[in-house]
Amino acid sequence: MTNPNPFPAAAAARCATPEVLRERGQREVFCGLTSIVWLHRKLQDAFFLVVGSRTCAHLIQSAAGVMIFAEPRFGTAILTDRDLAGLADANDELDRVCVTLLERRPDVRTLFLVGSCPSEVIKLDLAKAAERLNARLFPRVRVVSYSGSGIETTFTQGEDNALRALVPSMVDDDAKQLLVVGCLADVVEDQFRRIFHALGVGPVRFLPARRAAELAGVGRNTFVLAAQPFVGETVRALVARGATLVQAPYPLGAEGTSAWLAAAAAAWSVPGERLGEVVQPLEERARAALSHHHARLAGRSVFFMPDSQLEIPLARFLHRELGMRPLEIGTPYLDRQLVAAELAMLPAEALLSEGQDVERQLDRVRAAQPDLTVCGLGLANPLEAEGLATKWSIELVFSPIQGYDQAGDLAELFARPLARRALLARADGISPGRTIADAVSAPDRRAA
Ligand code: SF4
Repeated sequence: MTNPNPFPAAAAARCATPEVLRERGQREVFCGLTSIVWLHRKLQDAFFLVVGSRTCAHLIQSAAGVMIFAEPRFGTAILTDRDLAGLADANDELDRVCVTLLERRPDVRTLFLVGSCPSEVIKLDLAKAAERLNARLFPRVRVVSYSGSGIETTFTQGEDNALRALVPSMVDDDAKQLLVVGCLADVVEDQFRRIFHALGVGPVRFLPARRAAELAGVGRNTFVLAAQPFVGETVRALVARGATLVQAPYPLGAEGTSAWLAAAAAAWSVPGERLGEVVQPLEERARAALSHHHARLAGRSVFFMPDSQLEIPLARFLHRELGMRPLEIGTPYLDRQLVAAELAMLPAEALLSEGQDVERQLDRVRAAQPDLTVCGLGLANPLEAEGLATKWSIELVFSPIQGYDQAGDLAELFARPLARRALLARADGISPGRTIADAVSAPDRRAA
């Protein structure tokens, strides 16, 4: 089947000579369990059972602590030390926990068994456990398993693994459809659904679906449009079922959103005029929202530490739509198939790095003194204490940032740390020898 890719030539040109710094040292990234925090909100009748240790339970509880006030849809089956001889008991115990859980929660339609790092969990075969439980519980509940282990996954790869685990449950369906892959906030999903409808592109299905009964089928007339750059394994599993990947930049910013929609429209042979009628007013509104942030961001340098795999599309957006200067664009894993259209749009002078050797990368940050560093929580505070402005990358995964209506909010997420720094510098007269941390800890600022 022909790939309706409107960007192949440019992408191929940049991909042919990519300069990528590859590092394989110590890394500072949350593990795949973290993605449960947004997945459990999206999949409204699913339950995520982490098979792990007390550390895993603490991570999940603190990352998603808001669930104290509601019946949670995630939990941890804690395995204590066992030798191999105790594995039969562990399997029985896991089955018992699952059955008890499902009796108590008749609303649950998909049960995810999520693996983790501890050695006693690695010894358990969760895929077999899912098979065993399916034989007992299907069709009332679908049980699937995947790994969220920090040894194998970063936090966004956790989502990829969860979605890939659903692919075998998708029925064969050769009817033409657009399948949008990757978690989007409901409000964003609804906006895109309306735009696709106006374009005459459809039927449109989303993976993940909000409810188990809405899980799409897949076949040789399924066109896959990735909404997130970290769903590579899921996309490859869908392509193996006959689907076609529609190459496109990601729907971040006015330009990215238009290009993403145009790629889908091309697969449906939507006339250019119709595409223009639908997207132009929306794009203009998004550009107007972006213009409010242009003055603060244009010309400022930005350094991305590898964290979510969103770094490449975000750097493209900041550079092309807001005039920022990406110095280094770090990504935990460079999935060329999923970012081909994005690579073609990056500034040639930016260093692209894959993986991490955190100390060496911090040295590069200190040497470059970027205006803004986008990094994980663990690195943000020390860098702020050294006088560097930072943006927490995980916030970009939790926030609705895709689409036209969110373009201004996305720019604001980057403008805010710079505005805050400027405000504090004005209020406290920060000198080169006095850092923001000094200023923030001053008693008068704390009182404010
Ligand atoms: Fe559990 Fe491993 Fe994540 Fe730690 S890194 S919380 S042990 S899965």
